[in-house]
Amino acid sequence: MKRRDFIEKTAASSALLSLGLSLSSFENKETKHLTILHTNDVHSYIDPFPANHPRNPNMGGVVRRAALIETIRKENPNVLLLDAGDIFQGTPYFNYYGGELEFKLMSMMQYDLSTIGNHDFDNGVEGLYAQMPHATFEFVSANYDFKNTVMDGLVKPYKIFNKNGIKVGVFGLGIELDGLVDKAMYKETVYNNPVEAAQDMVRILKKENKCDLVICLSHLGYNYKDEPNKLCDLKLAAITQDIDLIIGGHTHTFLDKPAIVKNLVDKEVLVNQVGCYGINLGRIDFYLNNNNNKQNAFKGTSIIV
Ligand SMILES: [Zn+2]
Repeated sequence: MKRRDFIEKTAASSALLSLGLSLSSFENKETKHLTILHTNDVHSYIDPFPANHPRNPNMGGVVRRAALIETIRKENPNVLLLDAGDIFQGTPYFNYYGGELEFKLMSMMQYDLSTIGNHDFDNGVEGLYAQMPHATFEFVSANYDFKNTVMDGLVKPYKIFNKNGIKVGVFGLGIELDGLVDKAMYKETVYNNPVEAAQDMVRILKKENKCDLVICLSHLGYNYKDEPNKLCDLKLAAITQDIDLIIGGHTHTFLDKPAIVKNLVDKEVLVNQVGCYGINLGRIDFYLNNNNNKQNAFKGTSIIV
């Protein structure tokens, strides 16, 4: 070994040691690593914000998000890319193309799954249906019943992924549409109780299908301080069990890292949301041992796009 290489290697090792870490402390042959990437409330923001924007100069944009996702996939191919709804509405792209561009770009970024937000009904349930051929990813909602609409059969309650031997069950929950969306838009879409739907889902995913991880894609909202009786992600996490992670949307809440909530049986649930407009990309890394037991090690962060 050349002297310089030796010094560099030793310096790197001692730096890690001084942090109490070794290169193998998170990842080794005995550990499986799953990376969850997520967005919510992107609201048709495709271009980055302009350089002179007062709050978000040069931030966001599909091109940079796509590059970031690609980089992360190279680092760990074991990725699930999820969206928590409100894909539509917010820029002229939606007014002109009705969501076609949003779905096509998400398909190119290889999104795996999305749930449905209230604004995804903004061109009516027919408007959502019209864009479905442009999405290669699927939609889940466990509490919207589309049976008497054109969307019948196109939205499943849940989907189970197998990622490197890890069984991941993901289900969707939508917000009450009455009072939020014009009935003429959502038509015969039926809103069912999200808590009951969640309880059904964890029974199916955890008990019957033995999923190693259960994720809820929610458009219920993070928290409503002024409306303590309104259901939100923090409350849902606390009153249920067997959910490992809730990825939320709707309230445009920017979190730097996931909140940790104790559930009904005192186990930890992660609750995350990354604001809006594609400004941030959420990233949560789970490390499971060979028996697919979740180790305490997880990392969660919001990455500025
Ligand atoms: Zn919303």
